[in-house]
Amino acid sequence: DVRIDFTGETRILTVSNQKGGVGKTTTAVNIASALAGLGAKVLVIDLDPQGNASTALGVTHTTEVSSIYDVLINDLPLADIVQQSPESDTLFCAPSTIHLAGAEIELVAQVAREHRLRRALLDYLEQHPMDFVIIDCPPSLGLLTINAFTAASEVFIPIQCEYYALEGLSQLLGSIQMIQKHLNPSLHLSTILLTMFDGRTRLAHQVAEEVRTHFPTQVLDTVIPRSVRVSEAPSFGQTVIAYDGQSAGAVAYREAAVEIASRATQSKEK
Ligand code: ADP
Ligand code: MG
Repeated sequence: DVRIDFTGETRILTVSNQKGGVGKTTTAVNIASALAGLGAKVLVIDLDPQGNASTALGVTHTTEVSSIYDVLINDLPLADIVQQSPESDTLFCAPSTIHLAGAEIELVAQVAREHRLRRALLDYLEQHPMDFVIIDCPPSLGLLTINAFTAASEVFIPIQCEYYALEGLSQLLGSIQMIQKHLNPSLHLSTILLTMFDGRTRLAHQVAEEVRTHFPTQVLDTVIPRSVRVSEAPSFGQTVIAYDGQSAGAVAYREAAVEIASRATQSKEK
């Protein structure tokens, strides 16, 4: 069994890619669950109005529950909305509801509109220390994603091994640079994970190789295979780690989580 000593420092990662359907939410919840399984305290912030991360973590996100919308727009403390996932007593989720769909526009008129998540999160962490905060972003580069980029220090990009994988990535990298310059100098691309890998196709191998050539230090060794069990899990309100822990997808996500966690140790030793 892997044992990891968490340092007490909080790592804040935002799972981003302006493309939809590349595995952002699946990656956010499964890495979070796997890290919790290693003994880490993990908070997932669901920043997508669709609320898929909240669903997968088994937390209530019907229209009447307080959500990340109220934190961003109505100044509700994060502590008032965070729920524990039934999956683990060290796994927590700040749910999103459909109200968040309006936030992109409502935020425009708010004071410090780019910093609202960061402020709420820093207040929360003072009372509720976490080893990891993982933010699940919507598929756009609007104000919600900008709030995530301002709150985080690490950008975590899942890439689907298909033909258009690298298309649009330069736009994302440009946004990261802009945020670095104007809002958050500590933001950097720390992690890339290849997802929905179909090892039978030559294309998947070619894409993987191309991504590794472009980003040699950021790409994790572990690759997440395409697997039906991964896509079934959310309909049971579970991550694949809880739904079928022996499946290839669960094993791969646990390995990826170990890589992520041990990278922190490495950077600490330097
Ligand atoms: P995003 O958040 O980027 O929109 P999702 O995580 O919701 O992407 O994934 C898109 C779809 O692909 C979902 O239906 C999800 O269940 C499925 N999916 C994600 N990863 C895998 C995988 N490794 N194997 C099979 N299906 C997957
Ligand atoms: Mg998503």
